[in-house]
Amino acid sequence: VRIFVIEGGEPTLRRDLRELLDHTHSLGGYTILATNATTRMPLFHPSAFSVSIDGPRDVHDRVRGCGSYDRLRQNLEARRGKEPVLVITVISRENQRYLAQTVEEIAPLVSGFLFTFIYPYQANRMTLMTSNEIAAAKREILTLKKRGFSILNPRKQLQRQPGEWRCHDFLTNSVDHRGNIRSGCFVEHAEPRDCAKCHLACYQLLSALHDFSFEAWFSIHRFLLRAI
Ligand code: SF4
Repeated sequence: VRIFVIEGGEPTLRRDLRELLDHTHSLGGYTILATNATTRMPLFHPSAFSVSIDGPRDVHDRVRGCGSYDRLRQNLEARRGKEPVLVITVISRENQRYLAQTVEEIAPLVSGFLFTFIYPYQANRMTLMTSNEIAAAKREILTLKKRGFSILNPRKQLQRQPGEWRCHDFLTNSVDHRGNIRSGCFVEHAEPRDCAKCHLACYQLLSALHDFSFEAWFSIHRFLLRAI
């Protein structure tokens, strides 16, 4: 299976995005269009969307601007029953206490959730989460999985510490709006990586799939099969 993740952010939106999607589909590829879901979502028909949500209305609007959450919800409601939507939430100190509320409010409108954590980049001036806070957030995600919500983070990875599993970052290529292709770990696009500090769940999911984790296989297929 080849998965193409295409960045749909407004400042870099390509005029030929629709043609790109059609061309990829004609080659038999799946496409996942990454968007903030505030505008233009109905114009495109990828195999699936990924939508960034930072938390409930107040938290999301603090990060992305007043009214963003309501526009996002309206778009998701309009799309209900069409292409699958995967919510990606980056957990930070600002939203760590609202994970359950975020999932409960949005779950009826989307197909699944993937949680990840901010990588501690050297240039990052935000106050980072402590290891106790990260552990508490992981426990909360495990509880949400037990409650039956469609959460793609593999259970085993949530129970491990960074560095205790093999990261197969070679599985990904990223293509920017100019067509530049880069392979491997996103962190190394900015600075030398330190896997002992990294909780990037997108790699955990793909790495678990590569290592024949049934849970990862089941989660990804359940999501992708809805995209066919
Ligand atoms: S820094 Fe993170 S994403 Fe990069 S190779 Fe290490 S574990 Fe994987």
